[in-house]
Amino acid sequence: MKIDIVSIFPEVFEPVFSIGMNRLAQERGLVEIAAHDLRDFTFDRHRQVDDEPYGGGPGMVMKPEPFFEAVHALVGGSPYLLPKGTRSILMAPQGRPLTQNLVKELAGAERLIILCGRYEGVDARVGTFMTDEISIGDYILSGGEIGAMVLVDAVGRLITGVLGAEESLDEESFSEGLLEYPQYTRPASWRGLNVPDVLVSGDHGAIKKWRSEASRRITEARRPDLVGYRE
Ligand code: SAH
Repeated sequence: MKIDIVSIFPEVFEPVFSIGMNRLAQERGLVEIAAHDLRDFTFDRHRQVDDEPYGGGPGMVMKPEPFFEAVHALVGGSPYLLPKGTRSILMAPQGRPLTQNLVKELAGAERLIILCGRYEGVDARVGTFMTDEISIGDYILSGGEIGAMVLVDAVGRLITGVLGAEESLDEESFSEGLLEYPQYTRPASWRGLNVPDVLVSGDHGAIKKWRSEASRRITEARRPDLVGYRE
């Protein structure tokens, strides 16, 4: 998968994507991540990417043209007619909420182009040539960069071969619509706190049952919205 990120701060991505699984995925050629400077897609002397909002109000709004030019240059054609398998994503608080289901959907794409806003946001016309607008949660960040990192990290680890044990994907939180069961490691007894007996019993059937019940219990207690009813 090829991932292009467009931002006025392209340098912030390097440290995040050069560690751990993100680095491995790139070294193995499974994912190719490139960050681009939005200002490289301006044509004026001041490389201006923002301007005052029509209708008044505080702050600055990001101009549509540099984003359009960036997508145009990256795909080598009209942003309105993207090649099959390419998704163009604007990070936006008004977008579709990022969930594990959406992450899975995006992991099936061949190419992602991600645009990061700043300031008071992005000219609404940018939305007309993007395939997706995505929010990482109901709060306002100062820019789209951290959101793009969250998205790329979550998608990257689903790409075959990135995770050591593929099966660990099936059991983790959200993949079955439930939170993951509690995990323990050595020591079995620590400061008077004991690992549940069943987990050290070696009885795989019992362990499976315990985990599935624990998963349900913890989800019902902490996230009743995930099990289909509300308090
Ligand atoms: N005034 C805007 C917020 C702008 S925040 C509003 O009230 O909606 C500046 C930029 O940060 C946005 O353009 C977007 O790219 C990014 N951003 C902020 N919060 C985000 C979120 N929850 N999810 C994804 N991107 C977000």
